[in-house]
Amino acid sequence: MILVCRRLPRALSLDTSSSGIPKMCPSLNRAWWTSVTKLSLHTKPRMPPCDFTPERYQSLAYNRVLEIHKQHLSPKLEAYFPKPLLLHQGHMQWLFDYEGNRYLDFFSGIVTVSVGHCHPKVNAAAQKQLGRLWHTSTFFFHPPIHEYVEKLAVLLPEPLKVIFLVNSGSEANDLAMTMARAHSNNTDIISFRGAYHGCSPYTLGLTNIGHLKMELASGIGCQSTMCPDVFRGPWGGDRCRDSPVQTIRKCSCAPDCCQAKVQYIEQFKDTLITSVAKSIAGFFAEPIQGVNGFVQYPKGFLKEAFELVREKGGVCIVDEVQTGFGRLGSHFWGFQTHGVLPDIVTMAKGIGNGFPMAAVVTTPEIAKSFTKRQFHFNTFGGGPMACAIGSAVLEVIKEENLQENSQEVGTYMLLKFAKLRDEFEIIGDVRGKGLMIGIEMVKDKTSRQPLPCEEVNQIHEDCRHMGLLVGRGGIFSQTFRIAPSMCITKCDVNFAVEVFRSALIQHMERRAK
Ligand code: PMP
Repeated sequence: MILVCRRLPRALSLDTSSSGIPKMCPSLNRAWWTSVTKLSLHTKPRMPPCDFTPERYQSLAYNRVLEIHKQHLSPKLEAYFPKPLLLHQGHMQWLFDYEGNRYLDFFSGIVTVSVGHCHPKVNAAAQKQLGRLWHTSTFFFHPPIHEYVEKLAVLLPEPLKVIFLVNSGSEANDLAMTMARAHSNNTDIISFRGAYHGCSPYTLGLTNIGHLKMELASGIGCQSTMCPDVFRGPWGGDRCRDSPVQTIRKCSCAPDCCQAKVQYIEQFKDTLITSVAKSIAGFFAEPIQGVNGFVQYPKGFLKEAFELVREKGGVCIVDEVQTGFGRLGSHFWGFQTHGVLPDIVTMAKGIGNGFPMAAVVTTPEIAKSFTKRQFHFNTFGGGPMACAIGSAVLEVIKEENLQENSQEVGTYMLLKFAKLRDEFEIIGDVRGKGLMIGIEMVKDKTSRQPLPCEEVNQIHEDCRHMGLLVGRGGIFSQTFRIAPSMCITKCDVNFAVEVFRSALIQHMERRAK
């Protein structure tokens, strides 16, 4: 494998074989990276300008925050970075910390701030509703809910027209599980290995990430099946996925005859004949697997899997918690990118731009089977605040052409990161669609083994120090997840790519020492 740092003279192109480290004697190696340092190839890239000035931070001192956290919040610290980032304010794609440092937010919470932090139109809608009516229960009517569901329903194909509003993605998936069981009269539900569909006791059955699973009994009637991951899995090639960037694996499949898909469907059939009852309740899938590092399946897989599920009496549930609301660019919903029509769709995160709200959308038939058998109520779901905000989010996505922006800027970014992948041996894969981009870090491209977590941590931390916030994903936390607010620009992308390149050069430099 040839490592080429394009900014260096051609003579400095290096043979890295499979290790990712330039293959030279150690002293030469060091000399090379010292020259990189001297040339300042990893100097801090310049951040695009921003005309917003944050308020002065006047709250708790940093150390006090750490103390309070330790005393009163969950003992398991989930924060990124050894010195967690204390945020103070947000404006569109920007975040500001307590010291006034500015960051380009390329993770938007966790794929949540869909249209931009404190978007002025969404803020105005929230403030208007705040002064009018905060809350009333479902025993009374209020127009924001009717206005909202009408707007949302237009965006979904027939017969997906009945909407249940809830408060979180886990709650939406809980409800979808109950609906699938009530409608089918069956129990078993299948989901992919590597999937995350929530961490309520019910949805933990669908979540197949070992270290997140509950040690106590949970998830009765839930079965996992192999995730058709065309990069890390046993099968995959260079034309399997719906993305401007394909894997580095080679294949000789004829057009429309993806061998990887055929093999993964065989695995799916195997699950259906070995691990579930004769009839099943349903199958849950995300259009692109989120928490597992934006994993994409072979084209046509979901379509065939849906047919097999329906043959077994099950319903097909698509979790659009991360993929929905235009993020994938080519379509408003992820399921449309697979050419499938689900029976139930769940959504959360981007739906409220960070305000807690979620929804389950289904057919009149399933809604009827469910309500006939099961009482359903929640105090806050579909409240006036959530609905006013949800309406404003939908309007902003349309008025500001954010789906189109996801497509254009996302494709631009994918192609830029694909070039970095070709330059650096430790970037194994770049994938995704629109503004949902995964960068999987590996020891080397031949083995595709994950880059050790501490090394990924350091690259992550270096990006943060240069003002770029990205997320992490994957079973080994080996994948960087990029899912910014959909308002970002190509200028922001240029900055992010430069930061990433700089962090990788610093990484190579550390390795060579
Ligand atoms: N489904 C998916 C795909 C998710 O990514 C998440 C959250 N990460 C959930 C469901 C659960 O959503 P919530 O955290 O709002 O309960």
